[in-house]
Amino acid sequence: MTEKSTAGQAVGRFAPSPSGYLHLGNLLSALLAWLDIRSLGGEMVFRLEDLDPARSDPAFAEAMAEDLRWLGLDWDRGWPQDPGYAQSERTALYEEAFQTLKEQGLAYPCWCSRSKRLAAASAPHPGEQEADLGCRCSRMSQAEREALLKAGRNPAWKLNSPDQDIRINDGHYGLFIQNPAREAGDCIIRRSDGVYAYQLAVSVDDMRMGITRVVRGRDLLASAPRQKWLIETLGGRAPDYCHSPLLTGDKGKLSKRLGSLNTRTLRQERRAEDVVGELAFLCGLRDRREAVSAKELIPEFSWEKVTKEDIAV
Ligand code: GLU
Repeated sequence: MTEKSTAGQAVGRFAPSPSGYLHLGNLLSALLAWLDIRSLGGEMVFRLEDLDPARSDPAFAEAMAEDLRWLGLDWDRGWPQDPGYAQSERTALYEEAFQTLKEQGLAYPCWCSRSKRLAAASAPHPGEQEADLGCRCSRMSQAEREALLKAGRNPAWKLNSPDQDIRINDGHYGLFIQNPAREAGDCIIRRSDGVYAYQLAVSVDDMRMGITRVVRGRDLLASAPRQKWLIETLGGRAPDYCHSPLLTGDKGKLSKRLGSLNTRTLRQERRAEDVVGELAFLCGLRDRREAVSAKELIPEFSWEKVTKEDIAV
């Protein structure tokens, strides 16, 4: 698979999970990721994060790609035009990384409750419990593990998170230091049904797709240290991370002004330039609320203009 791009070029990505329609907050993250890479003259990749078959719907995937194009955002390689850019097609690569981690003693089987294991295929967003607090599986003896495996009980597999400070120099929020073992716990990398989980898949993909800039919502900043560590442990070079503010609040006022926060509905009522103008105003890129195309924002884009506060709407 020739996934990597020309050396030296900035490479960014859209990485949506097709579990619903895009809403305005997703559009803001996507717009900022696109402006970031286009203002650097870099390449954009579209990766479909459809790891979890039960939560992924091809109809949402099509709609997401179409909605991003409608907004004026484009990409140079990836789903759907190129094969191998949907996570559901990439299991062999996750398997290989998983075996490497296992061989290095960095993964252990876990037999804790099912619900936590099922949630693990998706990215952890605020309020979602990630660590299996109280899980004792890492301390099981080899004999105990073998007995459970022999009894036919399929385990999930967890990452032995590093007990060390990992430093992220976030392009927007500055220095972020986290000790993953203490502050995030051991995350699941493979569910008991064999589905690979978010932290592993996203790290393998960013590494193998040659991504050099990860721009996404601030709620995933806490995942960046593990991803950086995983990529480096697997022999790759971690991208630069640059997180963006989130849209928060009950969204009542904003949906009144725009008609809806759901892109599908929004599209019927507003032009793309109105939506881009609203987003540019909300995040601080422009000081007036006026229609503008995504392309027109490229030459004036700068992270310094973008607010660090979440945007209550
Ligand atoms: N697929 C994830 C989501 O939609 C984003 C993952 C990432 O950007 O790292 O929440």
